[in-house]
Amino acid sequence: MAIAYLNGEWMQPEDARVSVFDRGFMFGDGIYEVMAVYDGEVFTLDQHLTRLQRSLDAIRLDSPHTSEEWRTLILEAVARGEENPAYLYLQVTRGVASPRNHVYPAAASPTVLITVMHAPVLERTDIVPLKVVTKADFRWGRGDIKVVSLIANGLLKNEAIAEGYDDAILIRDGEVTESTAANVFIVSNGVIVTPPKSNFLLHGITRGHVIELAQAAGLVVEERAISESELLGADEVWVTSTGQEVWPVGQVNGQVIGNGSAGVVWQSVDDLFQGSKRISP
Ligand code: PLP
Repeated sequence: MAIAYLNGEWMQPEDARVSVFDRGFMFGDGIYEVMAVYDGEVFTLDQHLTRLQRSLDAIRLDSPHTSEEWRTLILEAVARGEENPAYLYLQVTRGVASPRNHVYPAAASPTVLITVMHAPVLERTDIVPLKVVTKADFRWGRGDIKVVSLIANGLLKNEAIAEGYDDAILIRDGEVTESTAANVFIVSNGVIVTPPKSNFLLHGITRGHVIELAQAAGLVVEERAISESELLGADEVWVTSTGQEVWPVGQVNGQVIGNGSAGVVWQSVDDLFQGSKRISP
């Protein structure tokens, strides 16, 4: 049974209502988190709570809850939702302010929404490598804040789909930033490489978790810039996100990566990732 929490009340997600004067609706003035729930446990919860606070600080919105209150609320949502596996979506906006004005209201009362919805079970046999296209990353310069305004990401993803691809990998100043909704890794000469954290890309929780797992297993990981040509010539390309976990890419711009199927390093890292779900960090 899916569940929603909206500003202190529990309800069915389809019954949740927000004012048209909510700044999330008017300005996209809010932030969010998406977490995975496996066997009733919120995967990498501490990391999500840390990023939630970072996003709130970045948009200068006082958190309506302490970290412990967030944790309690999230665990209650999971318990009430009784979905497994599930995605927990948490959104905080600057709340309702009328008349519409760019200036922040003096006393904002944030809108807090949490939903827990059923997630599809990803069978390993369902994993078909993605076909992606590179596109210019024209998004704003704060991709590190997990803001609800995803208009550019949506435009880029839908352009890629209209052109017959599954997704786009974004290029800024000749270098890979991320995909429209995931971080990017390549494998080049046995080394796992991902772009370093910067203000141009989301500091993905899955990205951080994969780096830790790979390093702990003795694999070499470098956080450094990846040029578009290095991407195209890579032995393996993957994307990582809460929803996609670690997903292989088989083609970039019509060019086959490796032999077009999931690579051996991906297989090792995916095994580590799947194993880590049973010992939630
Ligand atoms: N980059 C973007 C633009 C995203 O939207 C996401 C997730 O939605 C990610 C990266 C991956 O982040 P995470 O691993 O925390 O889900």
